[in-house]
Amino acid sequence: MEASWIIGILVFLLGASIGSFLNVVIYRLPHDRSLVSPASHCYSCETRLGFIDLIPVLSYLILRGRCRHCNAPFSPRYALVEATAGALAVICWQMFGTGPYAVGVFAACAALIVVFFVDLDHMIIPDECTAVVALFGISVDVYYLWTRGADYAIALTEQIGADTLTVYLPRSLIGLAVGGGVFLFIGWLFETLLHKPAMGMGDVKLAGAMGAVLGPGYALLSYFLLAIIIGATVSILLMLLRIKRRGDYIPFGPMMALAGLIMLLYAGPTTLWILSRYGYG
Ligand SMILES: [Zn+2]
Repeated sequence: MEASWIIGILVFLLGASIGSFLNVVIYRLPHDRSLVSPASHCYSCETRLGFIDLIPVLSYLILRGRCRHCNAPFSPRYALVEATAGALAVICWQMFGTGPYAVGVFAACAALIVVFFVDLDHMIIPDECTAVVALFGISVDVYYLWTRGADYAIALTEQIGADTLTVYLPRSLIGLAVGGGVFLFIGWLFETLLHKPAMGMGDVKLAGAMGAVLGPGYALLSYFLLAIIIGATVSILLMLLRIKRRGDYIPFGPMMALAGLIMLLYAGPTTLWILSRYGYG
């Protein structure tokens, strides 16, 4: 076997182990419970899980998705989260190497995995996850501003009297304001027109955080459109499969998280694809 294959498997296992921790976060964060204690245990028979039960993905396959002690079935979601985190770690490593940028993208992806499932279960988007995404966007922006200077900032020229003055604005903070602002406005519009709440503050904050990552331009617009396309597709599928009926509430957070994952990894190609759908280029 080539060395890169072995490294790839190790990266997958590292990502999957982090995925195992994300399962704990998804389960405990909405209940404000400690993320470190008590140690993982079977939710049916309460037996403390040992090493053999906790190998990411493999345990699920070896034990055929059941508790070794009481035979209670474990949700396949645990293995799915681990496998997804493992795959994302490999993708981040392949695309961005092993530096701080790769680690940042992976952290933001991990936060969005948690958003996906917590919003699905509880209809809340934890602020901690939104903060991780926003912090990643702002850190990258600060780094670019540091290395490229004002060239990288958004220049806003104003005519004041006879002078043309230029204000330099940081991309991430403008993106954050635009992202959050657009969602706040859409939410207000829906509430005013339909007299029912359309969006929670969690969605608004997540939109702001994605704005901090993508900046206030086409990438952010594409992110919104992608979330809407995914949302519409999933809603139609759920209605065709008769899992949901017309007028049932379908949370938008998971769609925003999924669109966010795609944009974190493939912002360029996705933006070009979306723009071409809408007649640009
Ligand atoms: Zn058990």
